[in-house]
Amino acid sequence: MHHIGLRGRLFLSHIVVMMMGLATLIVIGQIYTTRLFMEHIQTLEYRGFLLYSIRGKLLTGFESAWGRGAFWSVIFGGSAAAALSYLLSKRIMQPLLQMQRITTKFAAGEMTARMPMSDIPELNRFAESFNRMALALDNVEQRRRELVSDLTHELRTPLTIVEGYLEGLADGTIDASPDIYQRLSGETQRLKRLVNDLQELSKAEAGYLPIDAKKFDLQSLLKQLCDRFNDQLIESEKQLILSIPHDIPRAYSDPERVEQILINLLGNALCYTSEGSVTMRAEVKQGMLWVSVIDTGIGISEEDLPHIFERFWRSDRSRNRKSGGTGIGLAITKHLVELQQGTIQVESIFGQGSTFRFSIPIAQKTIIPEKRESN
Ligand code: ADP
Repeated sequence: MHHIGLRGRLFLSHIVVMMMGLATLIVIGQIYTTRLFMEHIQTLEYRGFLLYSIRGKLLTGFESAWGRGAFWSVIFGGSAAAALSYLLSKRIMQPLLQMQRITTKFAAGEMTARMPMSDIPELNRFAESFNRMALALDNVEQRRRELVSDLTHELRTPLTIVEGYLEGLADGTIDASPDIYQRLSGETQRLKRLVNDLQELSKAEAGYLPIDAKKFDLQSLLKQLCDRFNDQLIESEKQLILSIPHDIPRAYSDPERVEQILINLLGNALCYTSEGSVTMRAEVKQGMLWVSVIDTGIGISEEDLPHIFERFWRSDRSRNRKSGGTGIGLAITKHLVELQQGTIQVESIFGQGSTFRFSIPIAQKTIIPEKRESN
């Protein structure tokens, strides 16, 4: 029985059921109909019909008629049932075989292969969940391809520059000078930063960045960051301002990741703001803690805004290459926020400044009314 396929099993089970039915019919029929026939003859005899002499003949005649009837019933009924059973098992097998073909295709790399819908609800549910999985895998595959192509593009530029300098130095068309070595070192540093960022991004995209959520004091984290950045701003025209209500509730997320998010946002804000201020604000809204980083810098144009969180995206490639940006920071930031059940938003007016704000969960459920917040 172990090597019989599903179709064979279905067929066999139908046949067994049918045989049981027929056998019961014949045995019971044989016993009862003969008895009933005999009773009928007796009733007729009581009424005065003289059947005594032909009783035996009648009985054998009846038995042979019954026998022949039963025989043909078995032949016709049996073959009709067998044919029906064959068709039924085929109908169940066909979508299964088709599904098998599709999964094989999919496994062989044909990512667009999808299951057709079937009229058997269980198979339909199976097809639906397979299709969901296929779509998810297809997306991952697509992202992987995009990443590789973005990556080669990003790596090629500094490599070409380094190669050019090195060849020039080798054949003497470029004179070795501290400035040249500085530029070479700059490009290799850029490569290193790119590789580090990429590692972080790939972890974030795969969801492998560990998030160690706990209750923590957002206020002290923001103060600490503010002090740290202000130390670097002593001689500049810029100012970093902290605006946080004194009764802000504790946050529930990973303080290190929140710090990483803020370092990215503050770094950008300060980088793209030459004068004016950068404000860090925290508030409670819609049951979440919202932290905003508001700058008075160059701003982002309306057409650039939708792309801002895409990886490798920079508003002006040549300008930002000088500033050392890789265009990965905000992509990582977005993943970090989302991994902690938050959302990130951006608003900006070109030439006037930008506001990045993100949310993180509150530790305790008590929501502080907004009117009690003081800036
Ligand atoms: P990068 O490493 O290049 O800064 P990001 O992903 O952090 O990469 O930012 C992507 C791009 O978004 C930047 O190159 C810049 O053009 C734009 N951008 C980010 N933050 C700001 C900001 N506060 N003001 C203006 N432009 C910004």
